[in-house]
Amino acid sequence: MPSPQPKRQKRNPVQWVPSEERARRDRVGYVRKGSHMLVTTKDMLLKAQEGHYAVGAFNVENLEFVMAVIAAAEERHSPVIMQTTPGTVKYASLDYFAAMCKVAAEAASVPVAIHLDHGDGFDRCIQAMHAGYTSVMIDGSHVAFEDNIALTASVTKVAAPIGIPVEAELGKVGGKEDDGPAVAGENPYTDPDQAEEFVARTGCTSLAVGVGTAHGVYKGTPHIEQGVLKAIRSRLDIPLVLHGTSGVPDDQVAEAIANGICKVNYATELRQAFTRGYMAYMAENPDCFDPKKPSRPGMAEIQAVVASHMDNLGSSNRA
Ligand SMILES: [Zn+2]
Repeated sequence: MPSPQPKRQKRNPVQWVPSEERARRDRVGYVRKGSHMLVTTKDMLLKAQEGHYAVGAFNVENLEFVMAVIAAAEERHSPVIMQTTPGTVKYASLDYFAAMCKVAAEAASVPVAIHLDHGDGFDRCIQAMHAGYTSVMIDGSHVAFEDNIALTASVTKVAAPIGIPVEAELGKVGGKEDDGPAVAGENPYTDPDQAEEFVARTGCTSLAVGVGTAHGVYKGTPHIEQGVLKAIRSRLDIPLVLHGTSGVPDDQVAEAIANGICKVNYATELRQAFTRGYMAYMAENPDCFDPKKPSRPGMAEIQAVVASHMDNLGSSNRA
């Protein structure tokens, strides 16, 4: 007699969570079953806000980035956020990145969160939560104020009951999220009045603000408008997020943290670091055909960049 077909395993749906359980998760930070150190960004960022430091959110592009970022976090005893843009998840998939980060988090001695960076719509955010991301961003900064509110609220409505924090964006960070050059000084700043109304009406748990930074490679010297940031901070009590930080001088970032930034994103510098290490090895060893060999110096470059940022952000020894 033929043995019965094994049942196809169903993926866990996003489930409703009772209020007592939500309160418990709020207290301890939501730890996903089987992942000792995979946490949401909520607790991580609130601790940073209390302690007047920021947690680095580093964009990972492949397995090597994940391993290098975790190595830096362990070396510095720092909490860490690994994040992916829609461009990156189109390259592999949400499931691939969620799985890699989960494996890394389970073996890590520091708190790790995995975050969807620049979520480009309701569906992508829901897919990320299904895949196991512990934090999402919905980016409605490209649409009108009221539409941004409606889009952001649609995501928080689903995310809040299951304890997933939602970052939103108001105002614009210049440049392009995934590729292409950025132009410094072209960005409209976040309006503090609008920011207060936006957060009240959407329930977002952190907010990316436009304060003069841009994505990509800066052509001029970037300048953070600290006055705008202070004005926004005086109206909001949720963690604020700085995008487009690659290439921004460390002293400006440190001042922005003093003025209320709790999460700082780095993408471009990590790409540059990996490619620098990789290419240098290949230049010296042009006959090499084992990709592991040039990847090691690539990872070492990323680790050094990330560790140095953790020191500047003040997150070292906060794990
Ligand atoms: Zn960004």
